[in-house]
Amino acid sequence: MKIAKIEQFFPRRRMRLVKITTENGIVGWGETTLEGKPQSTIAAVNELAGYLIGKDPLRIEHHWQHIYRSAFFRGGNVLMSALAGIDQALWDIAGKFYQVPTYKLLGGAVRDRIRVYAHWGIHNTSEASLEQARNRLEWLQQSGYTAFKSGPGGKWRAHEPPATIDDFVESACLMREWVGNDTELCFDFHGKMTPALAIEVCHQLKQMRPMFVEEPVPQENVDALKQVSDHVPFPIATGERLLSRWEFRQIFEKQAAAYIQPDVAHAGGITELKKIANMAEVYYMHIMPHCAIGPVAFSACLQVDAVVPNFLIQEQVDAGLGSDLFQTSWQVEDGYIELPTASGLGFEVDEKLVEQDNRITQDKMNLLGLVAGDEEELGGEFYYEDGSVADW
Ligand SMILES: [Mg+2]
Repeated sequence: MKIAKIEQFFPRRRMRLVKITTENGIVGWGETTLEGKPQSTIAAVNELAGYLIGKDPLRIEHHWQHIYRSAFFRGGNVLMSALAGIDQALWDIAGKFYQVPTYKLLGGAVRDRIRVYAHWGIHNTSEASLEQARNRLEWLQQSGYTAFKSGPGGKWRAHEPPATIDDFVESACLMREWVGNDTELCFDFHGKMTPALAIEVCHQLKQMRPMFVEEPVPQENVDALKQVSDHVPFPIATGERLLSRWEFRQIFEKQAAAYIQPDVAHAGGITELKKIANMAEVYYMHIMPHCAIGPVAFSACLQVDAVVPNFLIQEQVDAGLGSDLFQTSWQVEDGYIELPTASGLGFEVDEKLVEQDNRITQDKMNLLGLVAGDEEELGGEFYYEDGSVADW
């Protein structure tokens, strides 16, 4: 069996898909979305296609090694996201070729169902905002979710006055009051705080007992993260911007976090996500794979979640961004999704819809480079009041 064709689609603003077809007609899908850089992974996949066409798709580890190591320069978010999408598509092909869910080729399931969390929070205590939050919570709880993540919105400077911190903490305490003590609540600081501010805010949050705080500080300085972990009485999580075992190594060795959140669409795909998880096991760290994008990446995460003993919970963007492109949906019951049973990554793509929407999105991209609205959503134009650049 040989790889015959590699195509790419952009059917939604934040969704870049790669489709690999073998000469005997097996199709594998992967996701290469890289927020804020809509064209870069497309170019990288096109370059890598020259190597992959004509190769055996089942030599997944060999292709991973070739793509990661062969051309002298390694890593970086563009190459690793392109590699991630290709790797997912090859695992999809492998599962379909052997006619088993991909997780059966990864050692087999160690659990029967997979815990998930959705995005929900109270962002301010205005009448309208509370009403909106209550409706959304009701809908998510009826859909079966029992764990939720939100974050302090907006720009946070090196320090904020008590009123800003109090507003966030009051919202968090109200959330706990609404959901009770059986539901998990967690917060993503989005790497936009200094260690001192993150520690101060976490101490205020302590009373409502969050499951974890994610990326309290930016990802580059592991010692700063460890400083936060050491001063906070609940688990700290990080990792959505770390791209390989080598980038997670210091987190492990310094015990700088309790939970890690590699993203299957950025950290080298299914192959690397499983290796990172296995490495984390040695340090008694659990994985909670990051997945804020589409259902292809989500499906790829589930394959690894199924086989890793130190898995804790899976992020899911509620109904799943772009899930209308898929003829598969996931039912959440009591906070869990049952293991997928279909071959490969376990979904059916509505290819006609993908192709049709791809044409629409691509037209917009050709004009703008980005699709309209991306800059705002992705923080490309995010400044403090004094005109300096803010993290978002
Ligand atoms: Mg995050």
